[in-house]
Amino acid sequence: MDTAVTFTTKQWQELDAAHFLHPFTDHKSLHAQGSRIITRAKGVYLWDSEDRKILDGMAGLWCAAVGHGRQELVDAAARQMSELSFYNAFFKTATPPAIALAHRLAELTGQRFKHAFFACSGSEAVDSIIRTMRHYWNIKGQPSRQVIIGRTYGYHGSTIAGSAAGGMSDMHKQAGQAPGFSHIMAPYWYGLGGSETPEEFGLRAAKALEDRILELGAENVAGFLAEPLQGAGGVIIPPATYWPEIQRICRKYDILLAADEVICGFGRTGRWFGSDTFQIEADLMSVAKGLTSGYIPLSAMLVGSRVANALIDEGGEYNHGFTYSGHPVACAVALANLDLIERDGLVDKAAIQGEKLRAALRARLADHPLVGEIRGVGLVGAIELTADKKTRAFFPEDAGVGLRCRNHCFRNDFIMRAVRDTMVFAPPFIIDDEQVEEFVARAAHAIDLTYAEVQDAGLL
Ligand code: PMP
Repeated sequence: MDTAVTFTTKQWQELDAAHFLHPFTDHKSLHAQGSRIITRAKGVYLWDSEDRKILDGMAGLWCAAVGHGRQELVDAAARQMSELSFYNAFFKTATPPAIALAHRLAELTGQRFKHAFFACSGSEAVDSIIRTMRHYWNIKGQPSRQVIIGRTYGYHGSTIAGSAAGGMSDMHKQAGQAPGFSHIMAPYWYGLGGSETPEEFGLRAAKALEDRILELGAENVAGFLAEPLQGAGGVIIPPATYWPEIQRICRKYDILLAADEVICGFGRTGRWFGSDTFQIEADLMSVAKGLTSGYIPLSAMLVGSRVANALIDEGGEYNHGFTYSGHPVACAVALANLDLIERDGLVDKAAIQGEKLRAALRARLADHPLVGEIRGVGLVGAIELTADKKTRAFFPEDAGVGLRCRNHCFRNDFIMRAVRDTMVFAPPFIIDDEQVEEFVARAAHAIDLTYAEVQDAGLL
């Protein structure tokens, strides 16, 4: 049964409201409004149940690097499913796709991360990192090193450990905050830098790590967990001074450094990893989204030699794993996805199209009274909406200016996401020049509509 055709939009919406609890959603208001039912996708476009064509400025959810509907990935999944649909890797067994993918990831990271542990989601990869960091210090005879330092506006997933490591206060409030986590300020120059230069501010934001380590006592700190750029927190791109200083501090106090590359990994920033773009030398890395372009759930914790040697040579039994760790179908899809990214030069393409997109957005919107900043690297970026261009002032939180803009995008068949009053975007790497123009026109239209609405509401 082709349910997309059989059911009307209204029927889908009724069933959805009756049964489906959505992630990160105010269900009451969703039910009042009804979900938009997405039924198919190709390239950079989605179609809904009313057959409206939508420009996907978020690549699904930061993941569809190669674009939607690539037959090569469909074929890889089908081939693997008919050969071996599933076997686990718990009991001294392995499957060829999982082995081949771990090998491929070692190659892609220039042998910096020779070992991969597979999971299904970014959250699970992060959870694995937290567990492994603490385990490492137990192995090393320093069991007091338990605290994971994260950052305000950091996002590391929605498991108990991932949300505790992340710096989203609403998530902490909802389910209580687990012990053993501490947060420092985000390197968010636009929002927090005041009159400092980005370079000065970057050093101050990094110094917060040293201050916190000293406050907690280095002997209690397991490691620092951070995204190369903070994606879900509003595409916060640290000033150039930030990462070198963070790296120096981690080395000085001998704490582990984990880069959460769930968004940045596999080309999003115009290099293979955010760690290449920002010159981070992490001990551990989490990857997900771009690993399969979102075609099938798969994530990995990549482990560098410092931790891997301890784990393998001295660690004994590693009491951790998921049924689907190294799922052969997911790993086969990942291999096909990496083939496509390499074959089509999509990492360079993300860098080139990202430049074009930012230039075109700036040409069209830099002088717009509602736009405070347009920033980005590779094909991930943000447009700050501001109440005052000169002072970079924010609107009152309850004015929901970002949400208003998101709604205008959505109504006009275009997807950008709102984080506070920051509009964020991350389109597929295959976006072509014409689609870049379309992106800019649609973004400008939504921002114009938002501006008119904000003026009508007396917010300006
Ligand atoms: N880490 C980062 C940096 C993320 O952006 C996300 C998801 N947006 C996660 C972890 C969690 O991934 P998932 O939703 O697949 O659990």
